[in-house]
Amino acid sequence: RAKDDGRGTYRFFEPEMDAQLQRRRMLELQLRSANFDTDFELLFQPLVDLQTKKVTTIEALLRWTSTFHGTVAPDEFIPIAEDSGLIVPLGAWVLEKACTLASDLPPYINVAVNLSATQIRRSNVVDTISTILSETGLSPDRLEVEITETLLLDDNREVNSALRQLRALGVRISLDDFGTGYSSLAYLRRFTVDKVKIDRSFVADIVGDPDHLAIVQAIVGLTHALGMTSVAEGLETEEQLLLIRASGCDEAQGYLFSPPVPEDEIKEFLARRGWKLRVA
Ligand code: C2E
Ligand code: MG
Ligand code: MG
Ligand code: MG
Repeated sequence: RAKDDGRGTYRFFEPEMDAQLQRRRMLELQLRSANFDTDFELLFQPLVDLQTKKVTTIEALLRWTSTFHGTVAPDEFIPIAEDSGLIVPLGAWVLEKACTLASDLPPYINVAVNLSATQIRRSNVVDTISTILSETGLSPDRLEVEITETLLLDDNREVNSALRQLRALGVRISLDDFGTGYSSLAYLRRFTVDKVKIDRSFVADIVGDPDHLAIVQAIVGLTHALGMTSVAEGLETEEQLLLIRASGCDEAQGYLFSPPVPEDEIKEFLARRGWKLRVA
């Protein structure tokens, strides 16, 4: 592995790795000088209740267009924003935008915001969230924060206490991408999350692979036994929808219903469908 010698140069590098590091550094510089309001956009994707066919929640998903690099995927820029600490102000911007939009929607629509571990560890995210909630007037139980399992795994007091404080405020906690990490049933119990989002890799193969169907059924059964809501991520086809619904899963999200869309479009989408989906 290449090592940083502390003066910003890398020794023993492979040319390919050098290019990767260069890009990463460039992106970090771009991120640091970005103007949130002009360079970032929040898209929203609906989560649908499979019984009532109504939209329950819209998830906020961040998009970045860099002046020099064009569109950069969240899977690439979020880790850079996390490592550089920029996720703290950027994440606050996302929370504010998302809560502002939600406060303009009917009260039965919630908004989900992805939260990075760094936001919890390196900032007082509880203060940030409660300030934003009072400024936007959004009822706390209409905000769902999505965290990943790895966050629950490391037995960190700050994380623990932040999650408890958020729940005490009335904010809901969702476990994102469930099944991809070191999923442990014990952790689900200990932290009492409200929603479990089953990773889309299980949904993708559910039609062809009986094992994946069995896993989904087991997760759904478990969440119900613990009084939690289950969500299937990445639903793309009608066949997947049939199996997911038959598994007893409560909600689903995916291109089948809608890709992530800009604010105007999600409002139009919700209004046009009377908050209810025809396809489901
Ligand atoms: P995530 O929270 O698991 O979000 C779901 C991802 O799956 C989104 O990718 C979404 O566009 C994509 N997706 C939704 N439906 C389908 C489908 O039917 N098929 C397929 N193939 N994909 C689908 P996206 O927007 O690229 O975001 C990737 C990840 O970046 C998110 O995963 C989340 O972990 C992170 N992210 C996005 N926005 C934020 C943010 O504001 N803050 C933080 N901390 N992380 C964010
Ligand atoms: Mg998410
Ligand atoms: Mg996810
Ligand atoms: Mg993800």
